[in-house]
Amino acid sequence: MSAGGIGRRPLRPIGKLLAEDTKRHHLSLVLQRLFTDGPASRADLARDTGLSRVTISDLVGSLLQDGLVAELGSPAETRVGKPPTLVGLLPDAVHIVALDLSPEDRLAGAVIDLSGQVKARAEIPREGATGEAAIRLVVRLARQLRAGSTRPVLGIGVGSAGVVDGDGVVVNAANLGWANVDLTGILRRELHTSVYVANDANTAVLGEHTFGQGGATDLMLVRVGTGVGAGLVVGGALVEGHTSAAGEIGHVVVDTGGVRCACGRVGCLETVLAVPHLRRGERSLASVGATLGGVLAPIVGALNLSEIVLVGPLDLLDGELCEAVDATVRERVMAVSSTELVVRTSPLGDDVVLLGAAVLVLSGELGVS
Ligand SMILES: [Zn+2]
Repeated sequence: MSAGGIGRRPLRPIGKLLAEDTKRHHLSLVLQRLFTDGPASRADLARDTGLSRVTISDLVGSLLQDGLVAELGSPAETRVGKPPTLVGLLPDAVHIVALDLSPEDRLAGAVIDLSGQVKARAEIPREGATGEAAIRLVVRLARQLRAGSTRPVLGIGVGSAGVVDGDGVVVNAANLGWANVDLTGILRRELHTSVYVANDANTAVLGEHTFGQGGATDLMLVRVGTGVGAGLVVGGALVEGHTSAAGEIGHVVVDTGGVRCACGRVGCLETVLAVPHLRRGERSLASVGATLGGVLAPIVGALNLSEIVLVGPLDLLDGELCEAVDATVRERVMAVSSTELVVRTSPLGDDVVLLGAAVLVLSGELGVS
């Protein structure tokens, strides 16, 4: 993973923390090294980043001053001469406010530290609020979480339902009644801090990429809820597509003789895979898994993904459904495409969007992902 790995989204830092471009880039190299591999001596940092010892000393000095890192003493094994002092990231130095606007019935939020630990949670029932009323609830939840944080807040990250463009404008979110809502601008004005907004499935794949178990750089995350969405990371970078709609596989038609979908067409993937349909047992889990595998196979073939991660109710997804996805994809692509493919569910569960929202801020503010 390279610094600022969430390539295509212009997550431009606007914080005062890292003032000037070259220094900001160098700082992100150092932070990424500490974030990924843990504590290091200044000599290790110089070697791993390719920066000079003098530059590293200067950078570590400013990170110490900002309180983002601390000197941790010397490693246990001592060599000849003066043992080096290790420097490590302080995960609890600053907090991130993360919001998940994807559940139908509520707005969920958390305060998260730099290591992905949830420090506090809050939620507000939506009670059908849409449009302006829903925006006011989002602002209220963000304020409430920030007020409850015991550390300086690095920024606010939001995973929103619907299509969100590269500037964090919600282009369209039907269930929230939003069209061209500049949620980033609104939260920035109301809370006077850095704000990053992205689609919930894109946010989820970032959460899995950074805080999940895999460490894969080519993965697709499929979220199964009241709808079906997906997020893609390819070559370590989020793929957004030219109209910010990459990953919208829920409305790929899988059964032209099927039932009518909310989008107006007939037989979309969502009409067999969304949770209400699975719960009603309209089709067996294995058969739905095979259908999903059929949709994913050409994507695996085209992109040579190493992981497919399913997120949603584990009682439905784990087992038969997941196994059928795995078997179907393997049947339909060349062995070279699937030999190291892993199809699994996510250990992060419902928190995957909140953690991804934290990654938006980590990436945008510190260049770490
Ligand atoms: Zn549809």
